This record gives sequence, structure tokens and C-alpha cells, in this order.
Amino acid sequence: MASSAIAPSSSPFISKVQKDVGLSALSSQPSFSIRNAKKRVSRKIMCVMAPQQTERKPATSGSVKTAMTMTEKILARASEKQQLSPGENVWVNVDVLMTHDVCGPGTFGIFKKEFGQNAKVWDREKVVIIPDHYIFTTDDRANRNVDICREFCMEQNIKYFYDIKDLGNFKANPDYKGVCHVALAQEGHCRPGEVLLGTDSHTCTAGAFGQFATGIGNTDAGFVLGAGKLLLKVPPTLRFVMDGEMPDYLLAKDLILQIIGEISVSGATYKAMEFVGSTVESLSMEERMTLCNMVVEAGGKNGVVPADSTTYKYLEGKTDTPYEAVYSDDQARFLSQYRFDVSKLEPLVAKPHSPDKRALARECKDVKIDRVYIGSCTGGKTEDFLAAAKVFLASGKKVKVPTFLVPATQKVWMDVYSQPVPGSGGKTCSQIFEEAGCDTPASPSCGACLGGPKDTYARLNEPQVCVSTTNRNFPGRMGHKEGQIYLASPYTAAASALTGFVTDPREFLQ
Ligand code: SF4
Repeated sequence: MASSAIAPSSSPFISKVQKDVGLSALSSQPSFSIRNAKKRVSRKIMCVMAPQQTERKPATSGSVKTAMTMTEKILARASEKQQLSPGENVWVNVDVLMTHDVCGPGTFGIFKKEFGQNAKVWDREKVVIIPDHYIFTTDDRANRNVDICREFCMEQNIKYFYDIKDLGNFKANPDYKGVCHVALAQEGHCRPGEVLLGTDSHTCTAGAFGQFATGIGNTDAGFVLGAGKLLLKVPPTLRFVMDGEMPDYLLAKDLILQIIGEISVSGATYKAMEFVGSTVESLSMEERMTLCNMVVEAGGKNGVVPADSTTYKYLEGKTDTPYEAVYSDDQARFLSQYRFDVSKLEPLVAKPHSPDKRALARECKDVKIDRVYIGSCTGGKTEDFLAAAKVFLASGKKVKVPTFLVPATQKVWMDVYSQPVPGSGGKTCSQIFEEAGCDTPASPSCGACLGGPKDTYARLNEPQVCVSTTNRNFPGRMGHKEGQIYLASPYTAAASALTGFVTDPREFLQ
């Protein structure tokens, strides 16, 4: 499956450069591993051509002997090495460790077992604990998990714990944020050049900030809690160059569905996915987060976008921690490079039951749906709701199926109720959603993205067909095992809500 996924694409919108150049720099290196690497890359490396970037800075990991990618440089700095190559195992100092209500209790247990009942975490200011998954439920075990997080944070004097005590009214909890990956960004924990690990596979979202960010298991996280470091294998990098003007009916969700459809759910297994090109540079931080959020759906170890003025502007006022971005060298070695002309892409969906079952939205126009879900770390950010509102506003119609809205965080929820939608004469998203007949926006959390306890809002409790802005459509993901989930952008989700069928948003946006 993996090899066929990397075969040259038949898509007219993507080209994979297959020129084997730039390896001569390796030949002067006496290291055994480099020689082995050369043997490997002579078979597998397809391209080492680096596209132009707007902000190129020198490496900050010491003198450069062999060019490195962003990911290699971040890991080199974090492991206090001047040079790293893919495949090397290194002890990496961790800048931020995040865990949440689902994995926190297990992580704390492992930490205590291995480091002792009275052990202290390595740095109380580098641990971030965010209850977000199973929050608004009467399930005792789910509620208990949040209590365990609270007890641990009090015991360890953890600085960043985004607690929720009053489940009846999330607004009564000023510390409560919501979905961890969006909260991490909003609270300034995502910084260029740093290493962020989290007990959640979508921790890769933070790569949008030019950071090495990846999900780890509870055992590794328990170790990081005590030691502040982790042994990581340096991944090789796939580079995705996206150029061309983004049509105004596309969103980053379409771009990542295009890529996953191209390389398959195993096409980037244990590889870094670096996103560059004029289209990526034009994306907002929230859209870059959507792009990086789903790299794990292609098996990616991490996703990464070079930091630029958009990144720095987003970070203004969010963090006092000094950070330093790094960038891939011109001659950095990429395992493969893919090029996309974004101007030629069309709105996409991923059909049940895999994120790589890519199809054009218009090809699925006969698929009758039962509901629409707009939410999650992928598609529940402020811009996602603004995008959905834009479609409802343009149509002037009412939805034909139940349409559930779950803002990712408390801040997003407030934006939905306060930010005017462009071209609406000052109406907020919430007003437009109400006029369109959507359900009232729910309390911020992961909601039904992961199914959750039976009483979770908008959970798929029947074998229904749902168009969703989330990131996974495996059987049972949103609840019922026979439910069918079509992953889509907020534009496509809103358009589908208006017709009751999977719908290309151009039906309303043009
Ligand atoms: S919103 Fe969904 S994908 Fe994101 S962290 Fe929560 S459960 Fe995971």
C-alpha cells in the first residue's frame, strides 16, 4: 500500500519531481550512517530541489556541515547536536508536554510508578493540561478523569491547567478553554523552533507554527513528565509545494484531503510533512493548523510550515517566551517532493471509512445525508464557523438536515457570538446560523468528534450519514459503528446542510 501510494500521481494537479540530485555533499562524509543513508537515498530519494522561500535564515544549530530540513534542525537544536540525519535516534529536550482528560490519568500513573509516588514533574511551567474530550457528560468515569487531572495539577503546582468545575455552564469556568490543539495555539504554547509533545495524535497541529509537534503515548509522556526529554528517531521529510491562487470556494481542508488522497493513509508513515509555496504563505494560522492537523491521517510523524510574518503576528501578545524559528536549507534532502497547482483543485470529501477515500464533492451529489457536524480541532475554529456562515448567508436558505455546531474553545464560542460575518451588514455567525435553522452552538469541547459517552452532544447514536468537518471517518469514530462520515471543509459541510446531499459549495458561492 505504501509503495503504490508513492507512485507517480495520475492527478493533473500534482507533479512529483523525481530527479536524484544534490547527493554529492554526502560523499565526503566518513560516517557509517551517512554512507548507509546514501545507499538508501540513492534508491528512495526522489528530489532535493528546494523552492524559494521568502524568509530564509541561517541555521541556528551550529555550523552546517550538511544541509538540513526544518524538522532536522529543530531536533538537532533540541538534542544539542550540530548535525542530524533521518533515522538517527536522539534524546530530545522537550519544550512543552501537553496531556488531556483521556490520557492524563494514565500518564500520571506511569510517572508515579516509574519516578516514585512523591516525584515532581521536571518543569511545572512546561506541562500543559487541558480537559477537553469527555467533558459535558454525566458519565462518572469521564468526570473522574477530569478530577484526577485537577488533583495532579494541584499536587504538582502545574502552571497551565485549563480547568472546568461547573459542567452546567462552561462560561462560569474562566480557565476552561476547550479542544487542546486550538487552546494550545490560542494560549501561546505553540512557538517556532520548539518541540511540543502531546498525548494526542493531532498534536501535529502545532507544526503550523514552525514547531516540531507530535503525538506520543502515555508511557512516553510519563517518562517526559519526569525527565523532560524523550528518545526520538529523526524522520525524513516529504515536501509539499503548493502554489497558485486559492479559489474562494476552497479551504485548507480541501488541500490536505487532496494530499492524503494522493499519498494514502500510510504514505507519510514516520515522515515529516513540510508545507511550502505561495499558497501556504497566503494561508492564515488557523488554515495552516488545519493543514498540519491531518498529517497524522497520512501516517506523518509531524507536519511543519515555515514561520513567517503571519506566524509572528498571531503570536504577538500570546507569549513572553523567547523563540527562534529555523528553516530548511536550500540543499536540504527531501525524501520526495510533491507540487500542487492549487488554482486547479476542486472541493473534496473523504468518503467512509478512510481519510484517503478522496472524491470530488460534486461526484457525491447523490449521497443523501442525515446530518452535518461542524466542529473539532480540524474544523471548529473561528474561521471555520465564519466560512460556514458565509455559505448560509450567500444562500439565504434554511438547512434541510440537523446541523450541529461545536466551537472548539471558549474563545471560538465567543467569536461565533460576537464577530461580524463579512458582507452580512454586521450579523454574527450565531445570528446567521439561527436564521439558517442550525442547532444552537454547543459548549466548547471535542464533542462528538470522537463519539464519546452516549450522552455526548451530537453523537452519532444511529447508523446515519454525516458530513463532518472533523478529521477521521473510521467506523464508529463519531459513535455508531455503522454510521457513515464524509469528511469535508466547512464550506462543503454548510452547502450539504442546505441541500441534504453532499454538495459542492460552488452551488452557493458562485
Ligand atoms: S476534536 Fe477530535 S481529533 Fe481533535 S483532539 Fe478532540 S477528539 Fe481529537
